[in-house]
Amino acid sequence: MLQQANLIGGAWSGSESGETISVTNPATGTVIEHVPSCGISETNRAIAAATEAFDGWSTSNLSFRVGLLHKLHDALMDNQEILAQLLTAEQGKPLAEARGEIAIGAAYVRWFAEEVRRAKGEIVPSPTADRKLMVTRHPVGVVGAITPWNFPSSMLARKPSPALAAGCTIVAKPATATPYSGLAWVKLCQDVGFPDGVVSILTGSAREIAGAMMASPDVRKVTFTGSTDVGKVLIRQSADTFKKVSMELGGNAPFIVFNDADIDAAIEGAMIAKYRNMGQTCVCTNRFYVQACIHDAFVARLKQASEELVVGDGAHDGVAQGPMIDMAGVEKVEDMIADATSKGGKIVSGGKRHEIGGTFFEPTVITAANADMKCATEEIFGPLSVVFKFETEQEAFEAANATEFGLAAYAYTKSLGRTFRLNDGLQYGLIGINSGLITTVEAPFGGLKESGMGKEGGSQGSEDYLSVK
Ligand code: NAP
Repeated sequence: MLQQANLIGGAWSGSESGETISVTNPATGTVIEHVPSCGISETNRAIAAATEAFDGWSTSNLSFRVGLLHKLHDALMDNQEILAQLLTAEQGKPLAEARGEIAIGAAYVRWFAEEVRRAKGEIVPSPTADRKLMVTRHPVGVVGAITPWNFPSSMLARKPSPALAAGCTIVAKPATATPYSGLAWVKLCQDVGFPDGVVSILTGSAREIAGAMMASPDVRKVTFTGSTDVGKVLIRQSADTFKKVSMELGGNAPFIVFNDADIDAAIEGAMIAKYRNMGQTCVCTNRFYVQACIHDAFVARLKQASEELVVGDGAHDGVAQGPMIDMAGVEKVEDMIADATSKGGKIVSGGKRHEIGGTFFEPTVITAANADMKCATEEIFGPLSVVFKFETEQEAFEAANATEFGLAAYAYTKSLGRTFRLNDGLQYGLIGINSGLITTVEAPFGGLKESGMGKEGGSQGSEDYLSVK
């Protein structure tokens, strides 16, 4: 599964320059292997191959495409363990989480194989008797897909799956820190029989590969998951060729615990929503808002649960927290802790790099957080919990919405009325009520405001890959 070449138009090859990039295991600091350092020329070859393959693929029998996607699902699950090991080696997350990521990625493949059968058109009533009005759906064309390092397998799965089901061809670029999961995913596509040129993948310079995708008039859609800053650059670049874009971008999730919450359930949800993938998920809790009566009890339990997390190499049994992806991530968390404590925050647990070294960091809890702190407005992306105390529901709503982001939000309450007010009042694309784990293939995943546009998953997840005539 350790592919050290790129798939371009059905052939595995290196970069034209022969240059490579080393990939490091963040837990051990050792180099795993090397991948090609490709750029504009290789990307243009992949786009040309995808363009050539599009005619045959988009007009192929739906049952053929669906059959290949089901085979791909099975291949992913047959190789779940080895793919999970690869994912942990390059990304750092605990093996149990990596197995889960492979499984949900495979579930997206199956979901879109099922959904495409329901990509129906419409016969619309005509205003005059002498006409029939038909609304039909068609694959949008060649798709470019750019993915991040934090979920290198499932973030990729959510893009080619609906694209391939719809009849689009695809050129993918995984994150440079974690290319192997994507390369293995595409290898399995080839193994199960996707025709040459239908799926290509390139590693190398983000600016060059993405730049070539954005500049090409043949690429009709670009789907991106990553930071809001890069997303904005790509949206601007899409204007020249009028591409469709979908953007899954950064978050700043509030996690609100009301006085009437089940505190056991809230802590269980909090640990998942905060510490999964070492706090490096776009839907990770950034800000805990806890109502005054329950605040001290919640903090005591959060401190205890954070201190029970076993930190270490994710490949080892029992580890719940692996390393952070790189030193820049560690320094960002340190900076946020320093900023918070200089503005009145109190560290009740953790607070520094872990004694085992590298990029391991202590799960940290800070209380007495306030709106002036960086952690209130910026994405933390690390194992740092910051707790704000609030008095009224109105106060919680206002604080939760006081951000330009709008991806995920969580709330714990037993009040049905409040649940509906949360659904109406929270400006977020994903809202977990009494649940800290909200991603599932059946539901549309995507943000509001500066967290993105478009949906992945759910019946809505196919729409971006289909044009309406
Ligand atoms: P990133 O720096 O934006 O990188 C994401 C991808 O974009 C990588 O493949 C990267 O390539 C590429 N890239 C970087 N600079 C680029 C440029 N100038 N033009 C085109 N492509 C460029 O984000 P990240 O650090 O990998 O991921 C973390 C961010 O992703 C967080 O903000 C997180 O919230 C967000 N995220 C969102 C979702 C969601 O569904 N909403 C899911 C996961 C993550 P290189 O690796 O080669 O630099």
